[in-house]
Amino acid sequence: MSVSGRTIERGRFAPSPTGELHLGNARTALLAWLSARSRGARFTMRIEDLDRPRCRPGLAEKQLEELAWLGLDWDEGPESAPPHTEAGPHGPYRQSQRGPLYDRAIEQLREGGHVYDCFCSRAQIRAAADALHSNDRADATSEASAPHGPQDDGPRYPGTCANLTAAEVATRRKSRAPALRLRVPHEPISFDDAIAGPQQFDPATEVGDFILRRADGVHAYQLAVVVDDAAMEITEVVRGADLLASTARQMLLYRMLGLRIPSWAHVPLLFGPPGIDGQPQRLSKRAGAETLSTMRARGDDPRTIVAQLARSSSLVGDEIAACTPAELLPRFALARLSR
Ligand code: GLU
Repeated sequence: MSVSGRTIERGRFAPSPTGELHLGNARTALLAWLSARSRGARFTMRIEDLDRPRCRPGLAEKQLEELAWLGLDWDEGPESAPPHTEAGPHGPYRQSQRGPLYDRAIEQLREGGHVYDCFCSRAQIRAAADALHSNDRADATSEASAPHGPQDDGPRYPGTCANLTAAEVATRRKSRAPALRLRVPHEPISFDDAIAGPQQFDPATEVGDFILRRADGVHAYQLAVVVDDAAMEITEVVRGADLLASTARQMLLYRMLGLRIPSWAHVPLLFGPPGIDGQPQRLSKRAGAETLSTMRARGDDPRTIVAQLARSSSLVGDEIAACTPAELLPRFALARLSR
């Protein structure tokens, strides 16, 4: 964190190589970069490739090339990343290579009595949650990926395995590998978000005891992101507003692990035209959002894309048709972003 007592400020961007980057991802990356660079902070790039089956080979490298094409750079990140300048002391910068760090954190949490084995299948959790009338949300996606909307978290875990005896755990372990869950205390978590303003969440009520490591051994996003942001000495996290609720879970982990909590800034999501339900659709590949890859292949000028993203954030007016990220630095302030 510090060299001779001086804190080194660091921002980051952490793409998942599970889908092509679209304008929404590009805007978040641009704003994270601007926030760091406008304060003279360092910038780290991290590949969040925990969920191997969902990651596409070669996509991480392509994403990094596209971010560099837009005019972004970083001081620390994966070796293959242009314009990588320095290996940095905190790598490797791919989550798939950092498993031992996550396991060490789990051990620390376990020693504090915060972890338990869970033998429930998804179907059992859904059935138990439905029986409690607590929630009947749609299908849960994998905990290894960042949740990008309330439905991504799945039903609140009803605590089925929270109080198994040691003997019960030993018996069940013979027939099924457990997932590991965090015992979530009943306490509201508040924080001040630099863009979204004051926030308060109650993870115990909203999601319940959440997964740290899946039964197949894959570590959960919520744990990995905390271990990594702390190990990489990130002082400011700028990311999409769909991760606001996750922040409370992450703050719990920071506290339990005795780690320094970064500052938070959650940027509004970009929406596309209304979908069949008449509601504006969040940009996504699934919703047909155009990808950076398509724009690049078509020969678009990255400066027009950067200007479009800057206009959509009220950083520049309509008169600016093209600009580089660096040209936006002098006028950048998080507080000036449209909410
Ligand atoms: N890897 C996550 C994503 O692509 C970002 C997580 C984060 O910034 O904390 O959505």
